[in-house]
Amino acid sequence: MDADIVCVGFGPATAGFLATLAKQLVTADGTPAIESAVMPGMPPQVLCYERADDIGLGVSGVVTKARALKASFPEIKTAGIPMAAPVGEEKVLYLLDPHGASRRSAALRCADALIRTAKFALPVENHALNLPWTPTFLRKHDGMILSMGQFMQWVGAQVQSTGTVQIWPGTPVSQALVEGKKVFGVRLLDQGVDKKGNPSDGFTPGMDIHAALTVVGDGPIGAIGQQLDEQFGLPDGKHTRDWAVGMKFVVDLPEDTKLKPGTVLHTFGYPEPEIFGFLYVHPDRVASLGIFVPSWFDSPTRTTFRYLQHWMLHPYLWRHLKDGKLRSWGAKTLGESGQHGEPHLTGDGYARIGEGSGTTNVLTGSGVDEAWATGTQLAEAVIELLKAKKPFTKQNLDETYGKRRRASWVEAEGRVAEKSRDGFQKGVATGMIGMALAGLTNGKLSLGSAPVQPWKRIPTVEDYYARRLSREEIAKVREECKAKNLSLHGALMDKVGWPAIPFDGRLLVSHQDALLMGGKVQAPHGYADHVIFRHPELCEKCGARICIEACSGQAIYPSETGVPAFDREKCVHCGACLWNCSQANPENPEHMNIAFRAGTGGLHSAEN
Ligand SMILES: Cc1cc2nc3c(=O)[nH]c(=O)nc-3n(C[C@H](O)[C@H](O)[C@H](O)COP(=O)(O)OP(=O)(O)OC[C@H]3O[C@@H](n4cnc5c(N)ncnc54)[C@H](O)[C@@H]3O)c2cc1C
Ligand code: SF4
Ligand code: SF4
Repeated sequence: MDADIVCVGFGPATAGFLATLAKQLVTADGTPAIESAVMPGMPPQVLCYERADDIGLGVSGVVTKARALKASFPEIKTAGIPMAAPVGEEKVLYLLDPHGASRRSAALRCADALIRTAKFALPVENHALNLPWTPTFLRKHDGMILSMGQFMQWVGAQVQSTGTVQIWPGTPVSQALVEGKKVFGVRLLDQGVDKKGNPSDGFTPGMDIHAALTVVGDGPIGAIGQQLDEQFGLPDGKHTRDWAVGMKFVVDLPEDTKLKPGTVLHTFGYPEPEIFGFLYVHPDRVASLGIFVPSWFDSPTRTTFRYLQHWMLHPYLWRHLKDGKLRSWGAKTLGESGQHGEPHLTGDGYARIGEGSGTTNVLTGSGVDEAWATGTQLAEAVIELLKAKKPFTKQNLDETYGKRRRASWVEAEGRVAEKSRDGFQKGVATGMIGMALAGLTNGKLSLGSAPVQPWKRIPTVEDYYARRLSREEIAKVREECKAKNLSLHGALMDKVGWPAIPFDGRLLVSHQDALLMGGKVQAPHGYADHVIFRHPELCEKCGARICIEACSGQAIYPSETGVPAFDREKCVHCGACLWNCSQANPENPEHMNIAFRAGTGGLHSAEN
């Protein structure tokens, strides 16, 4: 099939692109403002393929300054988008450890002791130090709290009502079509195949869509972005090595909640010093809350689900959450490389936008507005080229899209943020000081060194727990878990003093129950597995099976063979397995022994 423009993924980046483009393709009387090259007499044919089953099934916080969103939709604050609220009170909290179970450095333990000793003179409440001010770079004053799902549904309706753009959910793109250095469209995923991708009943090969321009906005773990990075390489000095998995609950707050709509809480320090948390309050007593577990948290048993429960149970937060109820949940990888990981933004026939192109600002904790802004920049560039009847060559895209992007606030702020997190390579205290330095000096000063590949950082279970558990104790835990076919993290956390989770069937529920309660896991029949263990022999010898421990849906689990098993029916599509592997891929040590390919399904809720 032929189109003029084909887009991969419908996240905020592509939404920004389509929202800007769609308005300019036809005139006020409905006649084409620009003519299609593949359908003469018609406006350009623009197709967008989204792998999730609906256009509003993304996962994100979201608190945003909404600068780019407001530029596209000046009426956005009063547009009646469900779950939207203006930002109100903002707080940054350092959470102390009420149980003494987290792994804290000596420096941090000293700081904690000082805070506890001076608590009568400091704003300390319920084991939390409320920072006296929110650093300017973190503030979202005059911004908005949104639900990603609700916002994307609203934008989707705006875009599709123009009649000039088609968005196809439930349609994963399997690969970009490449000839030499040129991209000339995309191929959709094969259907009617077995788990390994071999043709079976009702085999339908993925359709090829040829287009003069392919817009790649497939996010931080997208298969097409990965393919282009593999085929074209990254620019010198660039690398994508920093990630985090964000797990989020949407919660009905108790009826007598004191939290006002618009409240924004950011936390650090607990349940482990490396874990950041957020809580945003929507209207009608609903809150979005969650944690980020980063790739520089060097634990081989880093589970997000159980840590999220301990975080909710922290006394500062639990007094607000007790008697609350889970509405939905989800998890997704956040690409934390920022400009460290910026790929080639353009090439002949393609352009990259959004988080997969390095837009996320790790200093300000902002990704939606940045992704959206790059989408709008590309749309303006495309209109300019279409009107001038110029082809989508690398040079033309650089002179239009590249130029706009380089001149924008996304670029300027991304540069300030570029090295702000490098300090975390050396520990949490250095990381926090590095962030503050970069934030307060506009990126002129920073600490730390360039990140290394995540697999290089993962210690053995024995080394990680060395100071707290003997090798014999760990061996016993391993044996017990093996007999029950369980991952290790639960038993090891119990052993080092983490209290049991007091399940209440409402908010504190088992991982399996959350999969049933908080949305719907979709795994349409007839598609191949999207998680692949590249070299099973490496898995057989692997000591730290972090892929199992970190899996957000318990979809990767121990098997008899020594190679983990994968169950697509439980996969929430967070993409965390892509970077949670302790072995390098021998063919390319920048990557690990696990592949995350294009796939269907996932855990979906339109509230996330
Ligand atoms: C838990 C969490 C909390 C966050 N909180 C905030 C916050 O408070 N504020 C903020 O500004 N940012 C926040 N972010 C970051 C923000 O969500 C991202 O920066 C933003 O969504 C990036 O937009 P994008 O369009 O580039 O990519 P994405 O949102 O990742 O969208 C990419 C889309 O492409 C689709 N796709 C991928 N591969 C394919 C394929 N092969 N075929 C078809 N479709 C495909 C995906 O399904 C997805 O819909 C948060 C992120 C997470 C995970
Ligand atoms: S995928 Fe990676 S972490 Fe998991 S068992 Fe295989 S080598 Fe180990
Ligand atoms: S298998 Fe699925 S749920 Fe598990 S880490 Fe990978 S993408 Fe996430």
